[in-house]
Amino acid sequence: MLHTLSISALRQQLANKTVSAVEVATHFLARIEAQKDLNAFINIDSDATLAQARAADAAIANGSAGALAGIPLAHKDVFVTRDFVTTAGSKILAAYKSPFDATAVARLNAAGAVCVGKANMDEFAMGSSNENSFFGAVKNPWDTQTVPGGSSGGSAAAVAAGLALGATGTDTGGSIRQPASFTGITGIKPTYGLVSRFGMIAYASSLDQGGPMARSAQDCALLLNEMAGFDDKDSTSIERESENYTTQLNNRWSAQATESEPLKGLKIGVPVEFYGAGLDMEVKAATQAAIKQYEALGATIVEVRLPNTELSIPTYYVIAPAEASSNLSRFDGVRYGYRAADYTDLEDMYRKTRSQGFGWEVKRRILVGAYVLSHGYYDAYYLQAQRLRRMIAQDYQTALTQCDVIMGPVAPTPAWKLGDKSSDPVQMYLADIYTLSLNLAGLPGMSVPCGFSAGGLPIGLQIIGNYFSEAKLLQIAHAFQTHTDWHLQKPVCAQ
Ligand code: GLN
Repeated sequence: MLHTLSISALRQQLANKTVSAVEVATHFLARIEAQKDLNAFINIDSDATLAQARAADAAIANGSAGALAGIPLAHKDVFVTRDFVTTAGSKILAAYKSPFDATAVARLNAAGAVCVGKANMDEFAMGSSNENSFFGAVKNPWDTQTVPGGSSGGSAAAVAAGLALGATGTDTGGSIRQPASFTGITGIKPTYGLVSRFGMIAYASSLDQGGPMARSAQDCALLLNEMAGFDDKDSTSIERESENYTTQLNNRWSAQATESEPLKGLKIGVPVEFYGAGLDMEVKAATQAAIKQYEALGATIVEVRLPNTELSIPTYYVIAPAEASSNLSRFDGVRYGYRAADYTDLEDMYRKTRSQGFGWEVKRRILVGAYVLSHGYYDAYYLQAQRLRRMIAQDYQTALTQCDVIMGPVAPTPAWKLGDKSSDPVQMYLADIYTLSLNLAGLPGMSVPCGFSAGGLPIGLQIIGNYFSEAKLLQIAHAFQTHTDWHLQKPVCAQ
């Protein structure tokens, strides 16, 4: 039952040589094959995986093993990898092999992690349900009629189904937190600039941030220890002293904290705007019960305001497409990826390559982005959105003077049925209401499993902190997971 272990438990078994990294990799590859119907992966390459596993075994044997030697991970297919094809979920990159590894991947590899495959995702990370992938939708392991969330839906499904012990994800407007919430796993979107974006195929550069997804806060901490850190290849990477996220997990919050009340002194802000109209009753009940549980652990609750919450949707859906239309201009059939077969001249080659290579959602965003950046509309849309972005970030700073962290739902509903929102982009965008503002502000946030709907679908609690409060967020999530077992629940296929 290797797939039910925590990362540290498996690490222990590997260190004791009870099991080898090659045996672990073989076990997970067989599980991936047996659960192909979930469509959690775009690229599997067992030779590449086993070669990495053999290297991990050699490192364990000669005593040079890193902290994650032999741990099976899935990488979202937006991170470029030398050993595996990278597609970003798009036809335009369907056969692309990168000459280098993304920094986040390189760091995990340096710690000995083994990649079991590249996880499915919405094309160029645009989506909230994973139905925008050129390689087909991913199914939620809890109910295969249901979406796993997006855009890191493959990563989330892989961890939930026990096809990897952890995964990388990226979060531009919720893509780590929302799929984590829909599949009952734990995910953390770090502060903008903490994890390098180098080699992470860009969607909206001022919002994109990579982070770990795993079963527990403890496992996420182990992964973040390796992923975080300054990178001179990313101009927005932040240079600061590195932290150890695992050693702080069991800390008590304050001097008054006790064994039964480890979070005494913690002030939790609950935004009124996160509990208004549109919130599903079951999500409301589950997240409120989780906040009550925090009270039992010693925390106190205060009401806070984030008055511009509703504006985060139009603000995000101007800024993200604007940046996307610029970032995606590089896919022109010249340098890499797909090129249309028949064309008359250069102009025609560009047009056909992009018409055939991009999916509908990507095209919609390129059009919106080009429009809001165009002469005559720039001031009305893009500039206005930048002003609102500043106000949204300011709301958080005001709220965070009254509390240490903010808690609420991750998404207004549990996972919906495949196909339910795919013909209505605005409905899909509205589902991002509680996640987008964080990216606009650049703040860190987590999703922590906190209950189930009557239909048996997981519900996540969102925990938001100030810049670089990852260690605190993980500590607060870990305290909850020490006293509850929501994160230990597994879908049948993972048992
Ligand atoms: N759902 C949002 C979007 O479609 C967020 C996606 C993400 O975080 N990558 O843009």
